[in-house]
Amino acid sequence: MGLSELLGTEFRCDCGRTHGLTVRRFVYDATAIDRLPDIVRQCAGHGVQVAVVADSRTWEVCGRRTLAALRRTHKEAKEVVVADGQHGSPVCDEATFRTLLARLREAKPEVLVAVGSGVINDLCKWVSFERGIPYLVVATAASMNGYAAANVAATIAGVKVLLEARPPVAVIAEPQTIARAPHEMIEAGFGDTIAKHQSNTDWWMNRRLFGEYYCDFCAGIVADLEPLYLNRPEEIREAGAPAVEGLFAALFWSGVAMTLVGTSAPASGGEHLLSHTMDMIASVRGHRHDLHGRQVGVGTILSAALYEKILAIESPEFRAMPAQIDTGFWSGGVVAEAVARQYEAKRAALDAARRHLADRDAWDRLRSELGERSRRPQTIRTWLEQAGGATCAADIGCSKERLKGAALHMHEIRKRFTVVDLAWMTGVLPDALDEIVEQWLLR
Ligand SMILES: [Zn+2]
Ligand SMILES: [Zn+2]
Repeated sequence: MGLSELLGTEFRCDCGRTHGLTVRRFVYDATAIDRLPDIVRQCAGHGVQVAVVADSRTWEVCGRRTLAALRRTHKEAKEVVVADGQHGSPVCDEATFRTLLARLREAKPEVLVAVGSGVINDLCKWVSFERGIPYLVVATAASMNGYAAANVAATIAGVKVLLEARPPVAVIAEPQTIARAPHEMIEAGFGDTIAKHQSNTDWWMNRRLFGEYYCDFCAGIVADLEPLYLNRPEEIREAGAPAVEGLFAALFWSGVAMTLVGTSAPASGGEHLLSHTMDMIASVRGHRHDLHGRQVGVGTILSAALYEKILAIESPEFRAMPAQIDTGFWSGGVVAEAVARQYEAKRAALDAARRHLADRDAWDRLRSELGERSRRPQTIRTWLEQAGGATCAADIGCSKERLKGAALHMHEIRKRFTVVDLAWMTGVLPDALDEIVEQWLLR
């Protein structure tokens, strides 16, 4: 069965679960926007009130055209342009969410059409979930894998959190728009996609150490699409149509994988922590950060380098993790409190991992299994270079010191066990950080 036949269905999986996929349509086609009235009718019903939500840039890119197409059949379709945040683009935080919610309360839509990528998609996902109405997204960039995901990546009280919501009923995109987006958006999507091997390795480690649920089918969804964009990464650099289409499909389906599993585990592991930490520091200290996927690409090199160092150790002496978070690094306050709660929630997993790995055979087995799954840092870096993506601290506008600060604190922000925790347990962190940064993350 082809992947697209899973859209809008429920199916029994070899993992023992029944997976349900509420995303009903995935359209990547040059006339996708013209077809919107039909797609809306099919996914949300006849004669419904529609609101088109965009930011000032995506409104120009295809928001206006989306509204015009919809007004052919939905005469009352409304436009809502979300205001920019402090640093330019809008942000997905509580204040923006409340403002959008209030504006939509006046428009009273029964279906939302988001026009944009990361933030606009997340805001619409959040608002439509809150209002209990469906939403569709017209994608404007191949920049991240959240289109088909159920989660919203929001900043609440300064902390990046994943909120439970619902995926869109349809994801549509026009190839000409995706290819024309700023190249750094495509680079970001590429970084977010090549992270998958590392996040799957972390997910698989959680299965081995803690008996966590794991699904081979969901873990493999994106791997099957790899040849489409990864056989010739330089085609990503040139925004070649087949490679960008392959990348967009991989981004869509990796969001689907998260939705099927019900957590971000298939697409977000230790390699994501560097990016999340950088975003959090940026908001605490009031400076800019780079695109999620460009930072994730650099984090993926770091994850692979950590695995390489850890797996070279034949007989590790497992260390106790630092007892507490470094409150000063997070500037105290609510951010430090939220980070401390996550870290505290991880304590049981850390103890369980240490107990499990005290058995020498368990370490040998884990080491060989992880070795087969993790990729080499050089492989990741070469792909990113060929695709024209960010590969080092300078590329993501970050000093060596800031990068090291994030690398030394990123294990504090999430309760999920990842390669970063294993690095602390085996002493690779903090001992080998300088060497890894010099070798892999500076130019
Ligand atoms: Zn499954
Ligand atoms: Zn991501």
